[in-house]
Amino acid sequence: MKYRTYNIRTFENIPQVKNSLSEKEIFDIKVVAKVFPFKVNNYVIEKLIDWSDPLNDPIFRLTFPQRGMLTDEDYNKIATLLKNGESEEKINKVVHDIRMKLNPHPAGQKYNIPEIDGEKLHGSQHKYRETILFFPKQGQTCHAYCSFCFRWPQFIGINELKFAMKEVDILIRYIKAHPEITDILFTGGDPLIMKTKLLKQYIEPILEADIPNLKTIRIGSKALGFWPYRFLTDDDAQELLDLFKKIVDKGYHLAYMAHFNHYKELETEEVQEAIAKIRETGAEIRTQSPILKHINDSSDVWAKMWQKQVELGMIPYYMFMARDTGAQHYFGVPLVRAWKIFTDAFKQVSGIARTVRGPSMSATPGKIRMLGITEINGKKYMVLDFLQGRNPDWVGKPFFAEYNEEALWIDDLKPAFSDKFFYEEELEEILSRDRLEAGVS
Ligand SMILES: *Cc1c(COP(=O)(O)O)cnc(C)c1O
Ligand code: SF4
Repeated sequence: MKYRTYNIRTFENIPQVKNSLSEKEIFDIKVVAKVFPFKVNNYVIEKLIDWSDPLNDPIFRLTFPQRGMLTDEDYNKIATLLKNGESEEKINKVVHDIRMKLNPHPAGQKYNIPEIDGEKLHGSQHKYRETILFFPKQGQTCHAYCSFCFRWPQFIGINELKFAMKEVDILIRYIKAHPEITDILFTGGDPLIMKTKLLKQYIEPILEADIPNLKTIRIGSKALGFWPYRFLTDDDAQELLDLFKKIVDKGYHLAYMAHFNHYKELETEEVQEAIAKIRETGAEIRTQSPILKHINDSSDVWAKMWQKQVELGMIPYYMFMARDTGAQHYFGVPLVRAWKIFTDAFKQVSGIARTVRGPSMSATPGKIRMLGITEINGKKYMVLDFLQGRNPDWVGKPFFAEYNEEALWIDDLKPAFSDKFFYEEELEEILSRDRLEAGVS
């Protein structure tokens, strides 16, 4: 299949859209796509979405902007401007104001920028001791966009995290100088949007540097879900698989961190063939997804998805909470409900699929898991713990919050039995130290 993408200006030409959506539904997409990035491709259109009832199809909801992603007030503002044929400039101003209300900079990313010999590694992030993240400049887009994506500000250029190739040498020096680092995680956007030739220019110097502490190379990608031809028929598909094999043959653990939101993404022949090809290189595939209202908020969907993943040779890894940005009001599932869905799904699968952990919030202090609900002296409490912490010593200590069925995020919770969560003072110290170092006040 030849890769074709569609956006706000071109999606009306998709025959399935013309045939299955009403004028009003098409207009709604145009309004919402003014605020949130929108991109879809021919594989998603032809192989994943069930066009007999698109508005109720999870993959349609995963890729097409939806009316509910904007509040009525914001929707009406933009709809009116569009109907009146107002100028781009006027519309863009309103759009910008709406975007700024949607918390475009969650989880304090600016505090984790690594630095060596006075040089900052922009487009790179070192938050948890063992793992450094980086965002190759040319990997800041995806084969299609997820409607819920917390990286939406990156795609519209208000929160740029870009790692330039010339910085690979600095990165290598940094990893060498930090023997506690065992993992590099290539992320984006989607790093596998890059041509293999380009990806090699990032990966090969790292392989050649023979950094003794570096053990695992991870690549976070949704290419399996959105464009499996990346591993099958694209011009440089074989070259990519050869690169994977080279990484493995050099003795690294190559972890493909696959993003799947629904079992429907696992059902095409193409994806199954691509998974097999990746596995043949010796890479391991681990899977992760947020839990999302309107897309996968049911335990049967998760149980079926984990089961299928194991059947195809993948390892379920994380269930995340929708982050506190963008259309969280639309996609967010409260912690209590997410935990119930997780647990009900977990109960349905064998131990082989119970490698998955969650539901987890990637918040400023770390990855915080909703561990369960307990009752003490007849009163309900929520129990949480850290899967990753800015201070690694925070991991594995259960802590308590007042029971709150509506809470979507750690910020919505009140500590139980004390005024503050146990990590809060130390976090404040860590952040003010980083602020000083980063020169921000
Ligand atoms: C999730 C995450 C990682 C990787 O954490 P693991 O638990 O090792 O998978 C690394 N850095 C950041 C900033 C993360 O959010
Ligand atoms: S593939 Fe990942 S980075 Fe790209 S839009 Fe989806 S969630 Fe966001």
